[in-house]
Amino acid sequence: MEKLQVGILGATGMVGQRFITLLNNHPWFEVAKVAASPRSAGKNYAEAVEGRWAMDEDVPSAAKDLVLSDASDIEAMQGVAFVFSALDMDKEDIKKLEEAYAAADIPVVSNNSAHRWTDDVPMIIPEINPEHTDLIDIQKKNRGWDKGFIAVKSNCSIQSYIPAIKPLMEYKPTKMLVTTMQAISGAGKTFESWPEMEDNVIPHIGGENTKSEKEPLKVLGTIEESGLKEYEGLTISAQCNRVAALDGHMADVAVAFESTPSKEDIVNAWKTFKTTAQELSLPSAPDPFLIYTEEEGRPSTKEDRDAENGMAVTLGNLREDTILDFRFTGLSHNTIRGAAGGAILLAELLKAKGYL
Ligand code: NAP
Repeated sequence: MEKLQVGILGATGMVGQRFITLLNNHPWFEVAKVAASPRSAGKNYAEAVEGRWAMDEDVPSAAKDLVLSDASDIEAMQGVAFVFSALDMDKEDIKKLEEAYAAADIPVVSNNSAHRWTDDVPMIIPEINPEHTDLIDIQKKNRGWDKGFIAVKSNCSIQSYIPAIKPLMEYKPTKMLVTTMQAISGAGKTFESWPEMEDNVIPHIGGENTKSEKEPLKVLGTIEESGLKEYEGLTISAQCNRVAALDGHMADVAVAFESTPSKEDIVNAWKTFKTTAQELSLPSAPDPFLIYTEEEGRPSTKEDRDAENGMAVTLGNLREDTILDFRFTGLSHNTIRGAAGGAILLAELLKAKGYL
């Protein structure tokens, strides 16, 4: 199969660097073009990331000599089958730019939050709501777009706990109390670039509590003829904390159900959860998607974030709760599953369904 040529907007940033490494030798996609800010435009990739390359592996040789364009230069991206977007700019500017790409027949698979709440833009975690790709047809009709469209992935924090809830929907979860412990790479930082985070916990991440409370209701919603209908009947209260971990977002969750399952029911639902992403054999789909551990002190960021190449969600610490019904801990890799890896899996789903 001939590989699809893809572009990356924001290729030099933390998430952009993940795209570059995860797409190196990808079976379906090949990075053909890269773009970033006007500061980087004109430089070759290796030069532009010198001194701020944050990945464990070296810059892939296939990417080193790619010359960066300015992300606002849409003409420079012509010829690619679609772009991944990982820009850090003013949200309104990102919205306009992503729409301009779609209008120019270049589909956008976005990691940014700018369009997550746009009514006709699907927010997809491929294992959870693959059917939301139907919203793309409504979007194209609304906007008069032919080949172009925008699809987004969700915020990284929710990927540590919504995957655990999806297999339990038949028990009708009604309330969730979520406390997240989020790694510094989620802010595009390392301990070198953010030394104040060493030996520190900060109980604030701008806008994150609201995202963590609201986004699950869109992801768990249904697509009707008129568009997306958010899930009703579940209330989430979230407190998001930045902690001194480099990678890996953890969530401690207490949950109440309308019809309470037993602990065995929960473990069984997690262990047997099969997803469309696995059925379609998408190259980046982890199998299993959910890993349940009974080991004390697990999941832990260092030991579990890389499970299934950073694409699985590890669950543990499951016990009855004294106030709600159950508590558990979930963990996912924020820049892999929660960002670039999740967006690549979404693009694979879109390709398998014929949208790309
Ligand atoms: P980052 O490391 O700060 O990288 C930002 C990227 O955007 C760089 O490539 C930068 O190019 C480019 N950029 C900045 N200003 C620009 C402009 N005016 N025009 C064009 N390009 C511009 O940020 P990040 O952590 O990778 O995050 C990128 C996006 O993903 C953000 O929207 C963030 O909220 C979201 N996100 C991040 C994570 C995570 O775990 N880090 C998870 C989920 C979502 P230069 O190098 O040329 O400045």
